[in-house]
Amino acid sequence: MSAKPKVAFFDFTSCEGCQLTVIDSLQTHPEILDVIDIVCFREAMSEKGDDYQIAFIEGSCTRPSDEPVMKAIRDRAELVVALGACAHLGGINAIRNRFDLDDVRQYVYGDKAEWYETYQARPIKDVIPIDAVLPGCPIDRREFVAALKALLQGRAIQIPDYPVCVECKLKENICVYLRGKTCLGPITRAGCDAICPTYGDGCEGCRGLIPDPNIDSLKQILSEHGLNPEETLAKMTLFLNYQTMEREAVDDG
Ligand code: SF4
Ligand code: SF4
Ligand code: SF4
Repeated sequence: MSAKPKVAFFDFTSCEGCQLTVIDSLQTHPEILDVIDIVCFREAMSEKGDDYQIAFIEGSCTRPSDEPVMKAIRDRAELVVALGACAHLGGINAIRNRFDLDDVRQYVYGDKAEWYETYQARPIKDVIPIDAVLPGCPIDRREFVAALKALLQGRAIQIPDYPVCVECKLKENICVYLRGKTCLGPITRAGCDAICPTYGDGCEGCRGLIPDPNIDSLKQILSEHGLNPEETLAKMTLFLNYQTMEREAVDDG
């Protein structure tokens, strides 16, 4: 890698909020711009370069034409990082995967449905090999800065493998379950400093599942706190749909 690595940002199906968080991070850490060259970043600049070592990809793959573009990025970059829940998990775009695709297309596009080639939403790891993920909706800006520094120093990006509950307890929050709310913190990967419970809301799972989550136990807890099976499914579908459907496919053999 050259003394001043070239970095590129790309977006697929997403709200672009993670790229906005990158811009925020660069404003608060302008020193980063002294040590990298950003050659492509549609949300922030008009120049476009296709010579880069590190590619950050935001957004999920939702149509066949996304695939060759992602593969071309993979061919050019030494390192590819999935940026945010859409790229990491399919994100909220993957909610559609629980429904009949023709119904979804009809609902969204009406009588123009045939104009759009959209298909089931996938995380980018299912299209190209990736080197790391930065979870979250949006990503955590401190985690982005730490990750970029790690890559520039030739180290691997480290993300927590323990649940949000650990960070929540360290912050000495009162558990939202004790306030009549529900929370996916026990099965969700930490790294956001338990921001939602800290401000009084339950975790919605945007950073994805921890390794070996006890989903059955969590469903039991949700049931004991008043959620019916439909409400539980809805809660598990917002960000975790792709991962839970993957697990269901394995369980079904
Ligand atoms: S992960 Fe969330 S903030 Fe980031 S692009 Fe997707 S929807 Fe937007
Ligand atoms: S509020 Fe959520 S994250 Fe915090 S301890 Fe309770 S279940 Fe865990
Ligand atoms: S608490 Fe849960 S939903 Fe909120 S940012 Fe963290 S992982 Fe995402």
